[in-house]
Amino acid sequence: MTSTPFRERPGLVETDAQFRARFRAFLTDSRPGRRPSDPVVRLAWQKHWLATLFDAGYAGPGWPREYGGMGLDFSRQVIYQEEYARARVPGPLGTGLGIAAPTIIKYGTAEQRRRFLPPMLRGDMVWAQGYSEPDAGSDLSALRTTALRVGGGPDDAAAEYVVSGQKLWNSSADIADILFTLVRTGPPDSRQDGISYLLIDAHTPGVTVRPLRDLTGDAHFCEIFFDDVVVPVVNRIGAENGGWPLVRTSLGHERAAGAMNQAALYRRVLDELIDLLRERGMTADPLVRDRLTDFEMRVRIMRLTGMRTIADIMAKGEPGPASSTARLFIVTFEQDLHEFALDMLGAYGVLDRHDPHAVQRGRWVWGFLRTRASTIGAGTAEIQRNTIAEQVLGLPRDPAVPPAGRSR
Ligand SMILES: Cc1cc2nc3c(=O)[nH]c(=O)nc-3n(C[C@H](O)[C@H](O)[C@H](O)COP(=O)(O)OP(=O)(O)OC[C@H]3O[C@@H](n4cnc5c(N)ncnc54)[C@H](O)[C@@H]3O)c2cc1C
Repeated sequence: MTSTPFRERPGLVETDAQFRARFRAFLTDSRPGRRPSDPVVRLAWQKHWLATLFDAGYAGPGWPREYGGMGLDFSRQVIYQEEYARARVPGPLGTGLGIAAPTIIKYGTAEQRRRFLPPMLRGDMVWAQGYSEPDAGSDLSALRTTALRVGGGPDDAAAEYVVSGQKLWNSSADIADILFTLVRTGPPDSRQDGISYLLIDAHTPGVTVRPLRDLTGDAHFCEIFFDDVVVPVVNRIGAENGGWPLVRTSLGHERAAGAMNQAALYRRVLDELIDLLRERGMTADPLVRDRLTDFEMRVRIMRLTGMRTIADIMAKGEPGPASSTARLFIVTFEQDLHEFALDMLGAYGVLDRHDPHAVQRGRWVWGFLRTRASTIGAGTAEIQRNTIAEQVLGLPRDPAVPPAGRSR
């Protein structure tokens, strides 16, 4: 079903409360049915939902309108995220929206923005990030996947790159159509000065994607192999060997991505945990109440931090190093919350979704296992702490890491 996108009538200004009510009504009326268990059907179901959102004018709250976004002001972006989390509808597919899109908006050409952004937002094209490698994670500028330029002379339109190498831990790469990838176009030892930002069609011959299982038993990330993969030079964002500033923009957005959305999500999750503990008669215990009060304060701080992140992006175009604060706060919160939930639920809490006695279909143990990885992905907790120390608090640099070795 395709509905008509909402447009404010000229001269008629909608209040924030009216916007909230309208968006809530849309989410209630249009929400898709139950999440299918078959992965292929689930992907089609999720894509259909994203297309429904886009066609109705409800996708990309912070995106410019010219690329299909809503271009909402600050307060409405907050409302949008709160209502979205409350509605329990599927989230975005892949990792492009919060990371690649702001990078393309800032550094892409007008043609690249027109070509790549609307299909990404509509869910027609799923994007996955190809940055990390077996020997380049925190130390990202050590990456070794090469892109050799062939043909075309100085004319970018006719030239191509031949890409070879391996990427690792790439979330959603198994369902991706486009891999936003960092490649080495400079000499092997050129570190930050020899990296380019390339968009690679995941269906090109020579691209192999293998899913990797994590602690939950599901495969959330993959490894990617590039064997002489031919990529048009016009798929490069920014200058050749000039990819490092794009990496910084993109990593900042990766840490900020979803700060508000996560805050809204955990508002709901904490309320659900409190309800569960109340049902089990556990909330009269002063020690339990003490922990819940702590989580309540942290979820409220997360909301304020999320609001600050949106405000920073709107004011400066970039979330900046403070995004590490938001990220670190969220990931330690979600680990602590799931650990506490398991402590409370005892033996039943560790039964997974396959066991008929599992509590709430094993969601708490699944969350516990999944969030172990939260302090690694998007930069480890140690890297975030270093960033906060050096770039937010202005403390002296870590003498153990030479300037050339600084990356994430
Ligand atoms: C769930 C998940 C999803 C991910 N998704 C993606 C993705 O979509 N795309 C992608 O490209 N990558 C992805 N990654 C990879 C992620 O970015 C890397 O795992 C991360 O940057 C750490 O790199 P590494 O695993 O190589 O560990 P290493 O960098 O080898 O780190 C090992 C340990 O050393 C510590 N360490 C390293 N350097 C320093 C330092 N300078 N100071 C202090 N301590 C240090 C680290 O904190 C860590 O404890 C994902 C990872 C996870 C867990």
